[in-house]
Amino acid sequence: MIYLNGEFMPIEQARIPVLDRGFIFGDGVYEVIPVYSRHPFRLAEHLRRLQSSLDSIKLANPHNDATWTRLIGRLIELNEPEDQSLYMHVTRGPAKRDHAFPKDVTPTVFLMSNPLTTPPRQQVNEGVCAITAVDNRWLRCDIKAIALLPNVLLRQEAVEAGCVEAVLLREGFMTEGAASNIFVVCNDVLLAPPKNHLMLPGITYDVVLELAQAAGIRHEVREISEAELRGAQEVWLTSSTREVLAITLLDDAPVGNGKPGPMFSRMYALYQDYKNRVMRSG
Ligand code: PMP
Repeated sequence: MIYLNGEFMPIEQARIPVLDRGFIFGDGVYEVIPVYSRHPFRLAEHLRRLQSSLDSIKLANPHNDATWTRLIGRLIELNEPEDQSLYMHVTRGPAKRDHAFPKDVTPTVFLMSNPLTTPPRQQVNEGVCAITAVDNRWLRCDIKAIALLPNVLLRQEAVEAGCVEAVLLREGFMTEGAASNIFVVCNDVLLAPPKNHLMLPGITYDVVLELAQAAGIRHEVREISEAELRGAQEVWLTSSTREVLAITLLDDAPVGNGKPGPMFSRMYALYQDYKNRVMRSG
């Protein structure tokens, strides 16, 4: 079951007009919220980031947080899996094709749920492989825009190389992954790039930094050079659906000793523990 513009329905019945600006221009924003045991994880933070994306594209939020919460709750109920990946999507709506914003148009609101598939045990235990690529995206990567063509091409490049992610480099510095944030460990210090217009402010990124802070793990938020990335003891990727994963092979070279490192194992356990605690408290 999905939600589209005021109605819940089976996805097969969902229709949008071909002139929807999401379809024509990619003029819209989205969110992906992991749902564990039917509890949306960090919902307030996701709704805050949605608001920020909408503000950035000058689109009024079609719902307040209470309405979003109700719609999301109902959609979770209507779908079977206990763990879901909840997708929210708002576009500027259908209008005669013209780049400038149309007047009096109703935004399109679409929500869907898919079963949440977190990484298999083997990926957690052995790590995953990634390539590096030039970050050729625009300069507003902080907006969670539905226009994802560069990310699609970069991720495909990774898949064709037999890898799960492309780690992006812009002018000698690491920004993020094609669909994830990236952390590195250098000299036993966890490093995270600063939030700015060159990366998406990840919800998982925040969780990892909060857990590092609470556990007394030495960490720094600062720019990370390509040399630091390539010489790192550990490299991790984080995202709502992939949680925290170690990258153990980067451009065919082992990261550290080629196995998930001790800091990763610690963070992975902290993350799972945090998730379980949040779920139990509802
Ligand atoms: N960066 C990009 C480009 C992403 O698409 C994502 C989400 N898939 C992330 C970072 C991670 O964000 P989050 O932790 O909120 O899922």
